Amino acid sequence: MFVVFRCRKCGRHLYASESAKTKTCVCGYRNDLKRVRKLARAETEFEAGEIVRRLQGSGTEFDSLNRRLKR
Ligand SMILES: [Zn+2]
Repeated sequence: MFVVFRCRKCGRHLYASESAKTKTCVCGYRNDLKRVRKLARAETEFEAGEIVRRLQGSGTEFDSLNRRLKR
């Protein structure tokens, strides 16, 4: 199983194998998988990638995050 979550630092959507302990984001932040909020689960890596792509594409969450960071 794979889990989909957001990077705790930059808010990007990421996925990782459920058995993994950490996942390093492209921003360089190492996410502790025990502490992230899991958004979705997928059977396969391909499926997890599709979910991430769909979440990333919506953009609305990114906008609200950016606004929060500017404040
Ligand atoms: Zn990140």
